[in-house]
Amino acid sequence: MGARKGIDYIERLKNNPPETWIGNEKVTDPTTHPVLAPAVNSIARLYDSQWEKEKRSFMLFPSPKSGDLVGASFLVPTSKEDLAIRRMMHQDWAEQTFGMMGRSTDFMSAMLTAWYINADFFGPYADNVRNYFEYVRENDLYLTHVLIDPQVDRGKPPSEQPDEYTYLGVVKETDAGIIVRGAKMLATAGPYADEMLVWPFHLRKPTEKDYKYAISFAIPMNTPGVRLIAREPFTRSSVYDHPLASRFDELDGVVVFDDVLVPWERVFIYQDVERVNTIWKLNSNAFTGHQTAIRLQTKLQFLAGIVMKATEMVNTNQFPHVQDMIGEITTYIELIRAAVMASEATAKPNADGIYFPNVTPLYAIRNSGNRWYPRVREIIQLVIAGGLMYQPASVEVFNSPIAKDIQKYYRGATVTAEEKIKLFKVAADIAVSDFGSRHELYERFYAGDPMFLRIQTQYLGYDKQEALALVDRLLASYNIEQTSSQ
Ligand SMILES: Cc1cc2nc3c(=O)[nH]c(=O)nc-3n(C[C@H](O)[C@H](O)[C@H](O)COP(=O)(O)OP(=O)(O)OC[C@H]3O[C@@H](n4cnc5c(N)ncnc54)[C@H](O)[C@@H]3O)c2cc1C
Repeated sequence: MGARKGIDYIERLKNNPPETWIGNEKVTDPTTHPVLAPAVNSIARLYDSQWEKEKRSFMLFPSPKSGDLVGASFLVPTSKEDLAIRRMMHQDWAEQTFGMMGRSTDFMSAMLTAWYINADFFGPYADNVRNYFEYVRENDLYLTHVLIDPQVDRGKPPSEQPDEYTYLGVVKETDAGIIVRGAKMLATAGPYADEMLVWPFHLRKPTEKDYKYAISFAIPMNTPGVRLIAREPFTRSSVYDHPLASRFDELDGVVVFDDVLVPWERVFIYQDVERVNTIWKLNSNAFTGHQTAIRLQTKLQFLAGIVMKATEMVNTNQFPHVQDMIGEITTYIELIRAAVMASEATAKPNADGIYFPNVTPLYAIRNSGNRWYPRVREIIQLVIAGGLMYQPASVEVFNSPIAKDIQKYYRGATVTAEEKIKLFKVAADIAVSDFGSRHELYERFYAGDPMFLRIQTQYLGYDKQEALALVDRLLASYNIEQTSSQ
């Protein structure tokens, strides 16, 4: 089949809907459900855009297996030019969604690409990983992933939770596969994804006692026994009043596995604590970090643009501290741009001639972005201030007897009330709505706990040689007898 169009994605989803519960309502068709259809349509537009003539050179490439054109986020890079193609693809999708869809499907394709390249890591299940990557690429599937365990008792390991199957674990083996039971969080986009990739990530390292929870696999979202419990949706119907929440709310949910059969060919890690604890060896953060940095750059550019425009409309952009804070945002943007370029420029081929983006500058962005985004949202609040709260409740106000009040009191220095309210509603969607709060939480946590992530990658796992060598060179240049400067 190869790369899909939006209609292919929608049709498959319509025919294979995940079992999603929003409160006491079971969703029967995510493609028409008022809460889910807007996000589904946003994803469908991304799929369509792959086929736009002027984009094909960086959106599609011929599959080495079938010859069909497939998506560039599955491209195994054998040169720095290939890395640039991947960047252009990620950037285009990020720009189309203003960076607001963290789990557009290129995120999971990026992860799977690393798994495919380093498939030997999976030992006896390596071919399963290779075959799965090819299956996803050839059918251009939309994946979600679930790594985290339900937040029940973080003080205890998986094997000591209140119920043996609070965390997802193996119940038994059959000839056809393994039966799993338990729950996982948080499947962002799960209610409208085709498949899910499961692997465990615990802050507390599992030990041999936790073997039955040390599993990884992938299954279709509509596999019997799988159900998704969604959080409260933030989708809003009015595009004018909620320009972002009306299109880009990526619904998250907890996935319950009620004695689910995972076929053997879809098992990637099986009761293997050692592999679960060393999964970082796949270096998938090099590819996902490339995608997430590019997306964050776009998102911050979008936010910077909103602040620039809003402050211009009311002339607060003449005040130095406002200019300084906008300058703070553009500083972050340029640091991300530099890191992405550095990750490509300093990429080195592995023994098979395959290029991973250099993960070191990308980690620096991941470990900063989770702090920068909340700060940028704070800047919007500080700079636009009460402007975020004095917008009328609904666009309908323009068709009401008080329309004249709106024209008079809601105009800007040189713009009409219509122009100003339109822009300030975008700012409010980011800075003060429930949708906007979820985005702040997402940027803080989507890659894991910010503190442990930084400890692991910027201190424990950081190459300290250069820093230490400088100090050692200075210390070696004098001794205890040297009390004066000759
Ligand atoms: C909007 C959103 C979308 C997400 N989407 C996805 C997704 O698509 N797929 C997915 O798999 N996950 C997703 N996540 C989950 C995300 O990976 C986790 O939120 C993140 O890893 C932190 O885990 P937690 O939320 O369980 O917090 P916890 O691990 O429960 O942490 C809560 C607090 O307790 C502390 N703590 C917990 N355990 C320990 C310990 N052992 N030692 C010391 N301190 C500890 C933490 O530092 C933190 O301060 C999403 C999260 C959000 C907010």
